[in-house]
This record gives sequence, structure tokens and C-alpha cells, in this order.
Amino acid sequence: MSQAVTMDKIVAFCKRRGFVYQSSEIYGGIRSSYDYGPLGIELKRNIKEEWWRRTVHMRDDVVGLDSAIIMHPKVWEASGHTATFNDMLVESRTSKRRYRADHLIEAATGMDVEGLSPEELTRIVREDERVKDPVDGGRDFSEVRPFNLMFETYMGPVKGPENLAYLRPETAQGIFVNFKNVMQTSRVKVPFGIAQQGKSFRNEITPGNFIFRTREFEQMEMEFFVEPGTDEEWHEFWIEERWNWYTSLGLDPENLRRFEHPKEKLSHYSKRTVDIEYNFPFRGWSELEGIANRTDYDLKQHAEHSGENLEYFDQASNQRYYPYVIEPAAGPDRIMLAFLVDAYTEEEVGGEQRTVLKLHPRLAPTKAAVFPLSKKEPVSTIARGLYDELKGDYRLFYDDSGSIGRRYRRQDEAGTPFCVTVDFDTVDDNQVTIRDRDTLEQERVPIQSVRERLQKLISV
Ligand code: ATP
Repeated sequence: MSQAVTMDKIVAFCKRRGFVYQSSEIYGGIRSSYDYGPLGIELKRNIKEEWWRRTVHMRDDVVGLDSAIIMHPKVWEASGHTATFNDMLVESRTSKRRYRADHLIEAATGMDVEGLSPEELTRIVREDERVKDPVDGGRDFSEVRPFNLMFETYMGPVKGPENLAYLRPETAQGIFVNFKNVMQTSRVKVPFGIAQQGKSFRNEITPGNFIFRTREFEQMEMEFFVEPGTDEEWHEFWIEERWNWYTSLGLDPENLRRFEHPKEKLSHYSKRTVDIEYNFPFRGWSELEGIANRTDYDLKQHAEHSGENLEYFDQASNQRYYPYVIEPAAGPDRIMLAFLVDAYTEEEVGGEQRTVLKLHPRLAPTKAAVFPLSKKEPVSTIARGLYDELKGDYRLFYDDSGSIGRRYRRQDEAGTPFCVTVDFDTVDDNQVTIRDRDTLEQERVPIQSVRERLQKLISV
């Protein structure tokens, strides 16, 4: 990562190169909503794909699922979201702005107030003179009250309480309510996992930091069901596994750490939670994902509220039990921001300044670019032929405009790890040059072995 990387720089870069745009920009934009452009969608898809490959395809004990965003409202009663999925909201009467009371107090005093009641927070906000409205310095605050983060909507044409529904605030519950379905239809045996990726919605009081915290975002969650008593070991396993996923994709381990949630502050369902955090230059250590031991809380809650028996029958021991659940829960938007920040580099090469995204080849939006040195025959025909031959394998880019140096710079910025150039010698020797984005080394390879060579270079 380059020292100089700031949030403004990343936001401007993402817009300029088509990674991320402000949503509805031509109408002035809408706060906390972002659209992924041509390069951004490729990067995000690759992140999700790498998670799926490693969490589902490379394991024989995990299967996938895609459940609906709108579920029966009782799901959220059973899970505890209707009653407790709240943040503490306070309004400043002077500026009319709303804040998360815990964030306001923590920023002003350094006090750790997580888990305090609304009454206790109200007292602090009103009595501690250090707590001020960040906008106008005012100290006239409303009472602190819990604010439920679930987005409400209505199913069907009647907007009455009987039709009230929610956009899911997490993907996990779709997995729990399908536990029985999956068990009965896919021959899985404990220990096993069910994985899901998809959109979640939270009406965050203070979204911000670009795509780090938005109201509409994606999650990648996996519920791994284990026999009680083996849960602590499996928890360790998944913490390790998830850590290795980040580092195997090139995230600098210096910028990663584990954060152990203090026992007294665990969520109501959790026995132990460890976060994997990234040291963002503009906000310090922040959660990329949480890995929780959710015990048998959710399955038991759904069994009780639905009346269905959700126990697991272990044929080997002839016993019935509620499995414990280990849950790695990550967000690809936040993870994409971390990978972007980590990869963004400004450096000097041969007296020239270049911006380069040193993304792992597996994550790079475009895997390779093909350049004809000249737009003329036969160089251009050979290059086009090579491009057409390879383009179904992965995202490829063809560029025949501008100097070769400029074409390289454009691909460096886009994070393209390899550039293949067809030059005048190719016509005689049937060889092309592959240039490495990071080392800048060039190797000459026969044109018929380009596919094999690139495949090898990309799948490291
Ligand atoms: P935070 O404390 O930052 O609000 P959380 O602990 O509530 O996060 P979880 O409920 O554990 O988050 O969700 C799992 C993952 O989903 C997070 O680690 C994060 O990557 C992602 N995520 C959660 N909320 C958001 C959001 N508002 N915007 C983007 N990603 C999010």
C-alpha cells in the first residue's frame, strides 16, 4: 500500500477507472448507495467467487443455498431481530441531526459504552460536557432511544400491519430456516455447512466511509453445524481458515489482526466471537468479518417458534441433538475496499510515476490484455486471433490505441496482471511477449503456449 492513500484518493480513483460510482449521481446522488462499474463488478464477483470456491467447491462438507430476501416476519421474531436489532439513536435539537449515541460518546470521551441501556446513555449525553454535536457544538440532546435497523416494507397491495414484512438484515436466517430442507435433500451429515451470498439491508443511522458501511450491502455467510462439544475446536479451525483466505489472496498480514470480543459484550446468541480486522488508513482497525460460535440458539428458537422439530439425528450414535453453529460472516463490499486499499500503489519506475493496483491475479478484474504493436496487418490479425481464442476463459481486454507505454499504464491502474504484446517479430517467429505488472519482466513465449502459460500464472 502506498503511504499517501486517503479515502478521497480511493473514491476518486474508483470513479475515474469505473470501479464504483455514487448511485443516482445525475440526480445529485443518494447517500450511502453505490453502483459498481465495469471494473468494480469484475473485482467484486471475483471476491465472491474465490470465497465460494474455497468455502463450498473445495470442501466436501459444505453446500450452497440462495434464500429469499423477504421472509416470513416470524423469522425475525424468532431470531431476536424484531426485539433487539437496534442501535442507540440520539437527536441533536440544535442541528436536528441524528447520531448513534455510542459513537458520539466514544468519539468525545474515549469511554467504551457498548451494551449500556438507553437511560444510561441519555445520562452521559446530557451530563458529560465533552459530548457535543459534531456539527454545531450544541449540547441539547433528545433522549437516547433504541432504533430498529430493519427495513420495513409491505407485501401486496394493502399497506396494513398484517402485510408488514422486512428486507433481511442478514443472510444467516435463510440458512437456519432451511436446515431441515437441506438435511433431508442433500445427504449431509454433521459436521457440515450451508453457505450463502446475497444482499442484506440495514437502516444504519450513520452509514459512511464509502462502501465500508452502507444501507444496502452484500454478505457471504456460512453456518457450519457441529456436534456440541466439538464447537470450540471447529471455531478455531474456521478462524484460521478465514485468515488464510485473505493472506492467500495477497492481503498484507501486517494490516490484518484478530479481535476477540470481550465475553461481557457478546451478542445474545454468541458463546465466542472473533473478528478479522483490517487496518484501513482512514479509519484504523475495522471489522472485515466476524466468526461467531452461535451455539444452538438459532435452531432452538426456530424450533420453538415454528413448532417444527429441528434436531439432528446422528445415526452412528443413535442420538438426537441440536447442533452448535460456527458462523464466518463476511461482507464483499467491505472486503473489496480492503483489497483496493491494500493493492493501490503509486511508485516511480524508470523516472516515471505510475499508479498500479497490485491485486492478486485471481482477483484482478481483467486477467490479461492483448496489444498489437501496430494496427496494421498482419500484426493486428494475429493479435485479434489470440484475443478471440482466449476471451472465453476469463475477462480479457483488447487495446490497440495509443503508445505501448500508455497501454501498459492503463492496465497497471486497472490491476491487469499480464499484458501480451504481438509485435513485428511475431510474424516471423510466432512468439509474443508477456509482461508482468509487478516485476515488469517480459518473457517471450510461443503464441500457441500463451493459454497454458497464462493459466499457470493466474491460478497461483
Ligand atoms: P458493524 O459492527 O461494522 O456494524 P456487524 O458486527 O454488525 O458490523 P455482522 O452482523 O457481523 O456485522 O455482519 C457480518 C459482515 O457483514 C460484517 O463483517 C461486514 O463485512 C458486513 N456488513 C455488516 N453491515 C454492513 C454494512 N452496513 N455495510 C457493508 N457491510 C456490512
